[in-house]
Amino acid sequence: MAGFDSVKGMTDQSSDLTTAQCLLGLIGSGIQASKSPALHEAEAAAQGFQCRYELIDLDRLGVGIEHLPVLLAEAERRGFSGLNITYPCKQAVIPFLHELSPQARTIGAVNTVHFNGGRRIGYNTDAWGFAESFRQDMKGSSIDTVAQVGAGGAGAATAFALLELGARRLRLVDSEFSRAEALSASLSAQFPERDIRAWRRLDEAVGGADGIVNATPMGMARHPGSAIPAHLLAPGLWVADIVYFPLKTELLRAARAAGSRTLDGGGMAVYQAVRAFEIFTGRAADAVRMRRHFERIVGH
Ligand code: NAD
Repeated sequence: MAGFDSVKGMTDQSSDLTTAQCLLGLIGSGIQASKSPALHEAEAAAQGFQCRYELIDLDRLGVGIEHLPVLLAEAERRGFSGLNITYPCKQAVIPFLHELSPQARTIGAVNTVHFNGGRRIGYNTDAWGFAESFRQDMKGSSIDTVAQVGAGGAGAATAFALLELGARRLRLVDSEFSRAEALSASLSAQFPERDIRAWRRLDEAVGGADGIVNATPMGMARHPGSAIPAHLLAPGLWVADIVYFPLKTELLRAARAAGSRTLDGGGMAVYQAVRAFEIFTGRAADAVRMRRHFERIVGH
């Protein structure tokens, strides 16, 4: 069975960051509001070294996803330690990497690329980020049967995390049914003893579930609304939303009004950065400090 990526043993952790500036970046589209620069730069400063984290925004550069290999080569040439990768590049980046962590391979998406001794190694820290957020903030919540809406890049990571956390029945729903089917097939191969299926109807998938995860973009400022109708929410059903722009989504507001226990997307955003920082720098990150910093900058 797959496990979460372990940092130690997978990478050469010998770089001495006290003598050189650490260069990092994020490649994606429409990323100007990203909190990643603030999170990584503040953690490096707290550890006594300099880090510069650049936003490499396809929209601002006026280039498309086909420009990705050029951007990777340029970052490597400039001496970057690594890059975070976000929408719409998490799958597209894979052909340009030398190696994938076992977890990134299973999930089929990369959000962290480490440049290590001339090799580009792809990781997925979103899954650990979601799992750690759930462990920290949802203690005691049952995870036996979970329904998840959204089977895209982030949904693949949260589904993997739910299985690693112990979910025995996972019900995947997506408006593109074939995506839910493809994800349930690939995860079933990895977790053969679990009941992982694509469901066509959300109301049926939610019936008898302990919790529900929103892994669609619904709830973001650009995608207002909720993928989960309020009438399906009930006090005994926990609700996790991975959207974090904004943190208080329409879904979470409705869930709180219905008496549900809720988890917002902030924890996942912080913990994916914690693990990425460790991969980039070879140093342990202070997760509590990074979380406090995130909460300060988003005004939580
Ligand atoms: P994606 O486009 O790859 O996948 C979204 C999926 O949701 C698609 O398969 C789509 O068909 C499906 N979908 C959309 N609307 C739906 C609806 N109403 N009902 C059912 N299915 C629907 O996007 P992604 O990269 O997976 O990102 C999804 C969201 O996750 C984004 O809002 C992103 O910001 C968020 N995210 C959060 C974190 C975090 O750290 N908190 C990390 C990664 C992504």
